[in-house]
Amino acid sequence: MADYPSLHLLIGGEQVTGGGRETEEVIDPATGETIGTLPRASTEDLDRALDGAKRGFRTWRDTPADKRAAILTKAAGLLKERVSQIAPAITREQGKPVKDAMGEVIYSAMLLEFYAGEIKRIYGRTLVRPTGQRVEVQYHPIGPVAGFAAWNFPMINVVRKIGGALAAGCSVIVKPSEETPAGGIALVQALLDAGVPGDAVQCVFGVPDTVSRHLLGSPIIRKVTFTGSTAVGKHLARLAADDLKVATMELGGHGPVLVFNDSDVDKVLDTMVAAKYRNAGQVCVSPTRFLIEEDVFERFRDGFVERARTVKVGSGFEEDTQMGPMANARGPDSLAKLIGNAKDKGANLLTGGERIGNRGFFHEPTVLSEVPVDADIMNNEPFGPVALLNPMKDEDSMIEEANRLPYGLAAYAWTQDPARRSRLAAEIETGMLAINGANVSGVDAPFGGVKWSGYGSEDGREGVMACMVPKTVHEAD
Ligand code: NAD
Repeated sequence: MADYPSLHLLIGGEQVTGGGRETEEVIDPATGETIGTLPRASTEDLDRALDGAKRGFRTWRDTPADKRAAILTKAAGLLKERVSQIAPAITREQGKPVKDAMGEVIYSAMLLEFYAGEIKRIYGRTLVRPTGQRVEVQYHPIGPVAGFAAWNFPMINVVRKIGGALAAGCSVIVKPSEETPAGGIALVQALLDAGVPGDAVQCVFGVPDTVSRHLLGSPIIRKVTFTGSTAVGKHLARLAADDLKVATMELGGHGPVLVFNDSDVDKVLDTMVAAKYRNAGQVCVSPTRFLIEEDVFERFRDGFVERARTVKVGSGFEEDTQMGPMANARGPDSLAKLIGNAKDKGANLLTGGERIGNRGFFHEPTVLSEVPVDADIMNNEPFGPVALLNPMKDEDSMIEEANRLPYGLAAYAWTQDPARRSRLAAEIETGMLAINGANVSGVDAPFGGVKWSGYGSEDGREGVMACMVPKTVHEAD
């Protein structure tokens, strides 16, 4: 496959493969065909990575901030230079349109650039006592970090694990998803090429539970950071608790979208339909439960369906494709169950509802309306191209429904009323709220959830501080 690279582990700066290691196949979700063979780390590989992370932590922590910043900036430049090779590999393994994959690589570069600047802005503070005693509050990197990332954003999920850790001065061992390994490998390689020591950033693959138990079972690792499902997040948090390791958990969501009757309905539709079907709905901040004020419901519903039907589904390599296949075979299978259950419970299927063809994992952009709250899909993240549209009586019932679930990652609201915007910002239980827009992330802003959507932040100053610990030095002459 011309646009898919060979795959390996990166341990101690070396590309590791072969040697009788177990392997697994990487599948192109557009065709179901094998495109690559990925080695799994042996126990010895993981131990070598851990020993390296211990050494790499000291080396990287003691590298002057200016130099670390210059290295991260250089890595960002390498990603930009390499975008036209990396993006097709991401499309091949994950399915998203190439232009979206290019955006993913560029966003990853921007995040490294932001962190490079932030490295120089990690300040402590000094408290002076009347006795002349000084108290210095210093911030230190927490130690070696283990990061685990899901397959929906093969590079962004990984750079969010690595960027904050390296900016703080930590070493990091990352395990990208075995289903989409090339994005993470390309990122780690760019960091190594830019000058990050081979022991300070390493990349491993394997059976996820085996790798995470091994790494988290080691006292060398002081922090775990994970992007993926709430179920796995809880499991990793329990493993972390055994050794009181710090954890950042970026887990699932079930994004509510509150549409009030004073909003510009066409603008809401143009923005939110595109947001819904981005990455085939496989986005943790995907808008999912559309809660629409009754008097604009029919107009909103009809406009949504009309637009959903025009979304061009196809291979991510075709120029006009807006939505690629789902990333793995589990996607369409799980949607079939959720959509079937919603219909059984009385929901209206307005468009879509089926997988497309029997080659690859394509699924129709789907809209369900009047979905009862006891339908599984109203409670479990569909993580696919399905919008749920329900009419709502008033602001109070919309807020109540938004907060009904244990998730709280991203929420969206559309209204022209400034007083209502303030109430929503105060009342909605969420890590991120977009008002009159669809964007909930920025390299300089914290990204993360509340309740079952996890804890801790990535991106922004908070993403660096999440990898640091305060040390208070009380000093007298
Ligand atoms: P999953 O939880 O099994 O896997 C998600 C990721 O976690 C994968 O990359 C996997 O390799 C990794 N993983 C699984 N078990 C692990 C372990 N014990 N230790 C370390 N890593 C582990 O789920 P899935 O079937 O891939 O996706 C299903 C659900 O996961 C979705 O419906 C969605 O709710 C959630 N999800 C969320 C995100 C997100 O961005 N928050 C991303 C992907 C999936």
